[in-house]
Parts: sequence; C-alpha cells; structure tokens
Amino acid sequence: MTTLAPLLEMTRTIGQPHMDYVIIGEGNTSCRIDADSFWIKASGQQMNNITGAGFVAVRFAPILAMLDQPAGDLAAQKAIMQAAKVDATTTAIPSVEVTFHAMLLHECQVAYIGHTHATAVNRIMCSPRGRDFAANRMFPDEAVLCGPESVYVPYVDPGLPLALAIRDGVRAHMGEWGEAPKVILLANHGVIALGNSPQEILNITAMTVKAAHIFAGAASMGGPNFLSREDVLHIVQRPDEIYRRNLFVDSR
Ligand SMILES: [Zn+2]
Repeated sequence: MTTLAPLLEMTRTIGQPHMDYVIIGEGNTSCRIDADSFWIKASGQQMNNITGAGFVAVRFAPILAMLDQPAGDLAAQKAIMQAAKVDATTTAIPSVEVTFHAMLLHECQVAYIGHTHATAVNRIMCSPRGRDFAANRMFPDEAVLCGPESVYVPYVDPGLPLALAIRDGVRAHMGEWGEAPKVILLANHGVIALGNSPQEILNITAMTVKAAHIFAGAASMGGPNFLSREDVLHIVQRPDEIYRRNLFVDSR
C-alpha cells in the first residue's frame, strides 16, 4: 500500500515553473496504491502547488473494462469514471487521462507515471521529426535512462481514443523489446515517463527534455547523428550500465 506523499512531492517538483514542463492545469501524474486502485491527479489541478485534495483514488477494474469494451459516448465514459472513484463522496474528478494512466500502470506493471507537456519536447513533437526523435538515441545516458527506443503515438483525441492508441504502441514495443517502454511520446501533445519510483520519473523526464534540446540543436547543424542500433543495444545490455541505471532508480 503506497501513501500519497511521494506522488504529491513528485508532482510539485515536476510542476516547478523553471522546469518548463507544464503550465496552468497541464499534465498529470499517478501511482499505484495496491493491486486494486491508484492515485491520479484530479482534473484542473495545477501541479506546482497541488495538495492532497488534488488527487483522487480510483479503482482499476471499471477503467480497464472500459478500455476493452469502449463505452458509447462521453457521458457514459464520465459516469464510469465517476463510479470508479474509491470514495464516491469526494467531489474531485479524475483527470480526463485517467484511462491511459490505468492502462499503463496495469499493462507495463510500473508504480509511477508522469505526463507533461514539456516545451522542449513539444517543439519536436509538433514538428515532422517527432517519430525520428522517438525511434533513435543520440548519446549513452539517453539510452540508459530512457531505454533503447521510445513509443511514438500519432495524434488522436485525448481520453479513451488516446489510451487505446497508446496501448497499441506499448504492446508493439513490448513485443519487439520484451520489456515495457520508459518513455512514450505523443505527437502534438507531450511525453509520458514510466517508472517504479518518483526519482525515476524525474530522471526520465529530465533526460528526455535534455535529449530534446540536443536534438533541436543538432538538427540546426545538419544532424542529429544518431547512435547505431548496435551501439544502443550494447549500452542498454552492458552490466555496468545496468548497474548505473539501477543506481538512478534507487536514488531518492
Ligand atoms: Zn496531456
């Protein structure tokens, strides 16, 4: 059973204005409570000054069922989300992206998720080179922290259609690599980091943003020059890099 405190602190950290990851009510975060439920940021909450009341506990089962058998209209979906709240008396409404959070926590068996609209990343995701950014790695620490490849999801409507598109991408990635992705990049939208601790979410998001800055800079000089597939595989499979990656994950 996970308490809310680590998620609360992680959300406030991600939301700091100088990070330039989110503004106003953008972005959302979640974490697994136990096998049956998870915390998610409530709709309309601002990350940098969020309090405990800004999160809602939601049960997995009704949301996952909706993904397998999509409810007809938006009103029906909202009713299911409302009924999925652990405490029906709370007035907070789960983020509209509750569907992809439930799906990723379940499908990828991770404990934490951080979704942002980082300016540096969206500069690329709103350009014709988003797929290029997702499919490649430019430097070793990017491959260590962000995995060998990110999942690229073409633009679709936020909510249930987006959750279904992300699920397709994640399943394809798991089929190819035999493991869950660390980063999911959403065209014309933003980035999702998946991890097992708040620190891992912060590290992955920061490294994705750094990579985005490097990508844009290198593109202005005729690049980027990407690492070869062999080099990326060599890095992610090296015992000393796996050791280093685990250190990153454990440092809180
Ligand atoms: Zn978003």
